[in-house]
Amino acid sequence: MMSTSTGLRVLVADLVKRQGSSRSIVLEAPIGALEVVGSHLTEPGMVRLDLHLERILEGLVVRGTIGAAWSGSCARCLQPVSGDIAVGVDELFEPEPIEGDTYQLDHDSIDLEAMTRDCLGLELPLAPVCRDDCAGLCPTCGIDRNVETCDCASDSSDERWAGLAGLRFDEST
Ligand SMILES: [Zn+2]
Ligand SMILES: [Zn+2]
Repeated sequence: MMSTSTGLRVLVADLVKRQGSSRSIVLEAPIGALEVVGSHLTEPGMVRLDLHLERILEGLVVRGTIGAAWSGSCARCLQPVSGDIAVGVDELFEPEPIEGDTYQLDHDSIDLEAMTRDCLGLELPLAPVCRDDCAGLCPTCGIDRNVETCDCASDSSDERWAGLAGLRFDEST
């Protein structure tokens, strides 16, 4: 029989009843928006959970992997970048969870969404690059140095600006 669930809530009455029992599940569901500074889950935030649930004395151990696709922009050249995350999980669900450490085991079900969001939030890249040797944008004229070259020589332009700044000071006094 297929395990029934809505989104990331999984019925576990069968496991709760029997110490030492275990079961594998595969779930795919969208968890919506999740983002960090440099990237976010690709819409609509589809995640895939490949998990093994095991009933122990304290509650339910959830082990396996969580996979998702992310999108963002290159931290150097601002072009779109994307990739996949696969993060390992090993968490305890118990009737009286410890904030920030374990998750809630309800009477006959567990909701995997909080665990999923926590794990993926830590795994999303903060400063993704389109490729390791991305040359980035010219800080002076802003062209993409992966596709164009420019004549900006930072030393000479710095001197020019320094001269202008000095001139303005003279005029205002
Ligand atoms: Zn780039
Ligand atoms: Zn330039």
